Parts: sequence; C-alpha cells; structure tokens
Amino acid sequence: MNISVEDLRFGDRFQTALPADSDTDPWPREVRGALWSAVRPTPVRSPTLVAWADEVGTLLGTTRPPAIGPAVDVLGGNRVTDGMRPFAACYGGHQFGQWAGQLGDGRAMALGDVTGPGGTFEVQLKGAGPTPYSRTADGRAVMRSSIREFICSEAMFHLGVPTTRALALVATGEPVVRDMFYDGHAKAEPGAIVTRVAPTFVRFGNFELPASRRENELLRTLYEHVHSVHFAETPAGVVAFFEEVCRRTAELMAQWMALGFVHGVMNTDNLSILGVTIDYGPYGWLDVFDPDFTPNTTDYREGRYRWRQQPAVAQWNLARLGRALAPLHGDVNALDEVLQRYSAMYAAAWRRRLGAKLGLDVGDADDALITEMFSLLTAAETDWTIFFRRLADVPRDGDRLAPLLDAFYTPPDDGLRTRWAGWLAAWTVRGGGQDPAHRRARMNAVNAWILPRNWVVQEVIGAVESGDITAVDRLLDVLRTPYVEQPGSARLAGRRPDWAKNKAGCSALSCSS
Ligand code: AMP
Ligand code: MG
Repeated sequence: MNISVEDLRFGDRFQTALPADSDTDPWPREVRGALWSAVRPTPVRSPTLVAWADEVGTLLGTTRPPAIGPAVDVLGGNRVTDGMRPFAACYGGHQFGQWAGQLGDGRAMALGDVTGPGGTFEVQLKGAGPTPYSRTADGRAVMRSSIREFICSEAMFHLGVPTTRALALVATGEPVVRDMFYDGHAKAEPGAIVTRVAPTFVRFGNFELPASRRENELLRTLYEHVHSVHFAETPAGVVAFFEEVCRRTAELMAQWMALGFVHGVMNTDNLSILGVTIDYGPYGWLDVFDPDFTPNTTDYREGRYRWRQQPAVAQWNLARLGRALAPLHGDVNALDEVLQRYSAMYAAAWRRRLGAKLGLDVGDADDALITEMFSLLTAAETDWTIFFRRLADVPRDGDRLAPLLDAFYTPPDDGLRTRWAGWLAAWTVRGGGQDPAHRRARMNAVNAWILPRNWVVQEVIGAVESGDITAVDRLLDVLRTPYVEQPGSARLAGRRPDWAKNKAGCSALSCSS
C-alpha cells in the first residue's frame, strides 16, 4: 500500500532511546549531557519537487508526489505533521587530523523514522534551516551540491556500494549566498533540500564527543542503542562491535578504491558507524588514473584525502573511534588488536576486488602483473574506468591493445604500446582457460560502464539552473544500470572532455555548499 508523504507515520526510536538536550532554543550553543536537540525546519518560499528516487519511495511505502502540494511541503520543511519529532544530532569530530570539538547536524535534521516495506529508516532533510549546531552558518544548501548528493547517493546504491539514500530533491525557491572558493566572490545561488534516508546517520563523531567530555554514561547509552538496533547480528560486546565496524569500513574502502571514488572530506564526522558512504560533498572520481587525485580544493596542499590515502585515513579514523569506545571496555589492548587487523582486512578486500576487475583470482604470484599495470596506468594519462571496462573486450589473439585505445587521453607512443602489448600478453596467459564470454560477463559486472563523473553531474547542474528540471531524473535513469552499456548515453560514459579539465565543479570543488 502506498501512502502519500504527508500521511506517513513517523516513529521516534532515536529520540526515545537517547537523552535530549533540555534546551529547545534554536541558537548555536554547546550541548552537553545529551545526544540530540529538538528542532523545527525553517519554512521556505516555494518548495518544488525537482527529482525523486522511486526505489527509495518503495522502501518507505510511498510514491512520487506532484511537484507542489502537501507532500513537497513536508520535504521542503514547511509542514511538520503529527508524530514527527524533528531533531538534530549532537556529534563531534576530527577534521583534517585535528580534534574540532562539537559539530553536530548543522544543516541536516531528521524528521523521525518511517517503517515501510524495506524496513525502518530515518528520514532527514538536508538544508532545512539552522539548528543549535549551525555555528556561524545558515543551515541551508545550494542546488548544485544538493544535485551532487542526490545523484551520487543513488548512483552508489546502483553500483552496489553501501550508502545513505536520497528520496527527493526539492528546490526551495529561495536564494542562498555562497563564496564557492572562499575568495571573496560570494553570490546568491538557488537553494535546495535533499531528503536523505538511512537506518541511522550516526557517525564515528557521535561516539567521540561524549568520550572527549568523559560523559561515559551517555557514551554507553549511545553504544547500546546502536549495537542493539543496528548491529543485532553482531555478537555482544564492544570488541565485537568495533571489529564489525572495522570490517565494514575496510570493505567500503576497497569498493571506493576499485571504482575510483574519492570522498574528499573523510573527517571522522563524515564516516558512518554502519560502514556506508555518507555526506557527499566535494567528492570525485578518478578520470585520469592519478593516485594523488583529490577534487577538494580545501585539501590540495596536504592531499590528506587523495585517492590512495583513503584506506589509511579510514584506519586513522577507526583509531579515533577505538579510543572513543575504550572507556566502555576495560581492556584497551583488545580494541588495539582489532585495529591492527584492519590492514589485513583491507588488503584482502582490495585484492579480491582488484582480482575481480581483472577477471582473475589474484594471488601473490600476480604481484609483478599488478605492479606493471599500475606503472603503465601512470605512464600516460589513462582513464581508470574505461581501462577496466574495455579490458574485458581484449581478444585472446591479434591486436590486444585496440579495445583499450579509448581509455587514453593521449595516444600511447611506440615504447608504451610495446609495454602494453607485453602486459596484455601476460594477462591473457594468466587468464588461462577461462571461457572468454563468461569472463567478459564477470568483468562487466564489476567494472562500471558509467559513473556520475563530476563533469556529467556539472552538465545536469547547468541544465537545472537554466530551467530544465527533468535533467536530474534523466541522469538517474541512466545511472540505475551502471554496469550495462547504454549506447544512447555513450557520451556520458566517455573520457572527461577537455572543457572539464580545470573547470569549477568538475575537477575543483570546495566544502562550500
Ligand atoms: P561537512 O564538512 O559538510 O561535513 O560539515 C561539517 C560540519 O559543518 C557539520 O556539523 C555540518 O552540519 C556543518 N555545516 C556545514 N555546512 C553548513 C551550513 N551551511 N549550515 C550549517 N552548518 C553547516
Ligand atoms: Mg558532514
């Protein structure tokens, strides 16, 4: 049965289980002794539906509403229905390696949870106005970053990567002022709100904040709630819980790495306790294979969150989580031992995923093959995604390099052609007696044909800003089957065009959104 959004019944399992801030005033403040604050969305001028994800509606038991009306009033924050107890969560975090103290939901607020055919999910509005955690900011979000979050959350799901989901994208009809590159060029941009959906939005930082304040009872209450509700299958105890978070995070990192995803801001407040991708900000994808790539201009100098650092940074973040959980467990060494195992968990996950990309069961004997592949990928500008997709088309005999030519941003010279030919011969031998059609199908099931590359999403942002609001739904349609070749959309699956090489929003993004 389908229920319209404004008639959905909202539960409050987070709010009833966890201590609330006694203050209900909306102004920025330190919140102690509590894990959340009651808030109200700030109404907007004219909420209009821009995009909708049917699959997420199905999880909740609701369907796409008309572009304006009571449902979109809820999604725009103009209408709080009976039973909703909107809240902003209180959390802290390490940002770029430094303890930042209290952060919290500064521009996201949950309306509560909805139980539908897909289970129980928290429903959150991102950009619905200020909360006690907004600090000096406005609690709003601009259309460009909201389109990026909406598209990428759903694309990630269809790629098979654990992620928070996005139900709806609503234009607020109000401007939001942003200085995109913090260089004194502030301008008014269209505002938007994304409705996000996940079993919980709890992050590492939700544990770190009470731990940093020695609020051990609060910490224990949070841990017990998260373990019992979200880790019901995990054996009892803090160590088992931490091990499961490490395992899920290692798997997630291997998936990001295999697809060439760069999150951009892997602060501990942006790592989900569930091990799902969360908080899509200045993310990007490897177009050209460059292990040092980060799309986040705020991080250009240090490169803390560049592609190749992500697995190690996740471990650093897990160490912060382990330290936060330590007061709950007498034996800190046991948590440390789990953390030590993270490297092996990640290495195994990466090997498995890289092997699948190559159509091989990768073992130690393949080290030389892999080292040479990475050396070749960096020798000339090569597209990470197209390379693996086309590798499946390499014939057993004859001109093995031909299918790969599309992956090169500059055509390989004779020396490089010879090296590639040697590598492809070795790879063919290693693949041995596999049935070519079977191997091709297996490789195509893990090597995406299309991704929401930054330049593709940037085109959609441009289209929406010039009034073509169906552009988001159209792109999402293509991204629903990312492993299936769709000749009608071939341009979007191609190499990054030259115009996008140094364009804002494509290769350069900031946290300003
Ligand atoms: P982020 O870098 O987006 O993960 O944000 C870090 C912190 O800043 C979180 O506590 C956010 O809620 C908060 N924040 C980011 N942008 C805004 C905004 N426009 N208004 C209020 N708080 C924000
Ligand atoms: Mg965040």
